[in-house]
Amino acid sequence: ARALTISGVRKTFVTPEKTHVNAIDDVSFTIEQGEFFVMLGPSGCGKTTLLRGIAGLETLDAGEIRLGDTRIDQLAPHARPVNTVFQSYALFPHLTIAENVAFGLEMERRSKQQVRARVAEMLELVQLQGMAGRKPAQLSGGQQQRVALARALAKEPEVLLLDEPLAALDLKLRRGMQSELKRLQRTTGITFVFVTHDQEEALSMGDRIAVFNQGRPEQIGTPEDIYERPTSRFVADFIGETNFLDAPVTRTGAPAGEELVVTLPGGDPVVLPKTVPTPDGTVTLTIRPERIRLSPGGERFATGRISKLVYMGTDLRCTVRLENGAELAVRVPPPFDAGIRPDAEVSLYAEAEALRPLAPE
Ligand code: ADP
Ligand code: MG
Repeated sequence: ARALTISGVRKTFVTPEKTHVNAIDDVSFTIEQGEFFVMLGPSGCGKTTLLRGIAGLETLDAGEIRLGDTRIDQLAPHARPVNTVFQSYALFPHLTIAENVAFGLEMERRSKQQVRARVAEMLELVQLQGMAGRKPAQLSGGQQQRVALARALAKEPEVLLLDEPLAALDLKLRRGMQSELKRLQRTTGITFVFVTHDQEEALSMGDRIAVFNQGRPEQIGTPEDIYERPTSRFVADFIGETNFLDAPVTRTGAPAGEELVVTLPGGDPVVLPKTVPTPDGTVTLTIRPERIRLSPGGERFATGRISKLVYMGTDLRCTVRLENGAELAVRVPPPFDAGIRPDAEVSLYAEAEALRPLAPE
């Protein structure tokens, strides 16, 4: 059982215009053996560069990459016990499906029989048993992606790197392939490092997610950590819909500076754990629209007026305007209360733990 450890990795590119881009900016973290690890972030944040660094397709400016205690960053790409699946399937068009899957195996010292058995096993794993004799052009996009997976898994890598492998598929096919990939990872026990810019894909697939921003992971945690307990404005904003509220800190201190008391317009004072510094006497809070309630329960943290109301069938989407001009998105689940109508004055309730203090930028 070997964990993949990335420590102090840096990579700077010099563009043709001679500007320096810190694609990977002093990154250190560990991916556990057998983990489905997702690297999530907007385009250009360095996901592909880090993946290529792990694969050995990109030379690093600094840092080390280890599998267990073994350094692999000095090894040639083919000597690393990792394999990569790209968004473009990169299949050989003139070879059959079986020949494509066998390709990497024939480079190794294996008998024809062993290769044939392994190819059959891999095609069964990705549920393409009947397709061995076909050419890639005779397969759908989703099936071609499975061939690419079978080929990458055939050599029994310890780590499989996947760079936005589903981005070219339409939504319905992508959903199917997401659960297929989860199943493949569980049955093989191989560590998957899966890159995506799609937050729903990350939440539904990852054991843990690293949210990247400008060349480094800004937060690493389980999907619940990332969604329920974002530590920065960037992470809260990138994943799902959320509200931000600037609140004056009315009291800090007792006991021993561990608490933070904030008061919002028309609300009762709310006591929060002091998890972030508040140098200028204010703190930015974030709260998800579905965690705000318009009926009593938890703390009443503000009052305001409904400025917009949209019926969505599954919920009502309200916008509530506070006295200080701040607007909050609120999702009200059914059954809908007749008192929720445009211009009504409403109290906003939430569990204190749904109000998350964010570190100042
Ligand atoms: P992502 O995969 O998250 O979209 P990349 O790793 O591809 O991001 O890119 C990170 C940054 O490095 C971007 O600003 C990109 O423009 C830059 N970059 C990547 N590859 C090169 C290269 N070969 N030459 C110059 N800049 C590059
Ligand atoms: Mg990329």
